[in-house]
Amino acid sequence: MIWHQGPPPYLTFARLGQGQRHAVFTRLGGVSQGHLASLNQSLMVADDPTHVHENQRRAQAVLHCVPEQVVNCQQVHGNHVAVVTAADGGGVVPATDGLVTADPDVVLTMRYADCVPVLLYCATRGVVGLAHAGWRGTVQGVAAQTALVMMEAFDCLPHEISAGIGPSIGPCCYEVGPQVIVAFATTFRDEGVIGAPTRHGHARIDLWQANAAQLRAVGVRSIEVSRYCTYCHRDTFFSHRGDCGRTGRFAVYLGLLP
Ligand SMILES: [Zn+2]
Repeated sequence: MIWHQGPPPYLTFARLGQGQRHAVFTRLGGVSQGHLASLNQSLMVADDPTHVHENQRRAQAVLHCVPEQVVNCQQVHGNHVAVVTAADGGGVVPATDGLVTADPDVVLTMRYADCVPVLLYCATRGVVGLAHAGWRGTVQGVAAQTALVMMEAFDCLPHEISAGIGPSIGPCCYEVGPQVIVAFATTFRDEGVIGAPTRHGHARIDLWQANAAQLRAVGVRSIEVSRYCTYCHRDTFFSHRGDCGRTGRFAVYLGLLP
């Protein structure tokens, strides 16, 4: 990924291609205080709303968009995908972990702290998709589902879709217990998603590889993995596990160029 100074600082994927605008923000460059310092973008973590709104304003200035163009969603760790237009601008789509648009007046956004951001772009048809894939969303295939909606709703061809898999908890740090291992073992066979046993039925899971494998399974070939682990880099990113559940959320924004 490419690091941009901002302010506020943000990262971009080199391989997503021309015709779209996106930014993966960090926890740096905002006004939130204490454990939410400083660029917390979530109103759901008991932050001062004036701080969150200022942080959102700073992020949206980087994207050159206004709040009325931004489509947000209520993330619920599922695999529902919504197609949105400018009519949804400024709104929050309920119970959705995948957003797709072909409307250049729309900028999609979601918030993260260890879960996997998946950015999708089809330059040929002019379509973008954004997904939120924690372990539950990954097992339910939300990233691949988002790509499939781009194909079904807008005739995108899979090999024309570029993907970016963003900062999230990495295989170095994502140790899980038997329940999660069983869920992954029934979904993934030989993709190298489940690591060697660590202790008492625990193992490390590779969410990056899992999401990449699911995207490849629906024909997406151009995939860039950021390889930033939020737990390892919790000075730069919010990490739900690294901060023991008491933390903020960083944002990803993705839209077409107007
Ligand atoms: Zn790590």
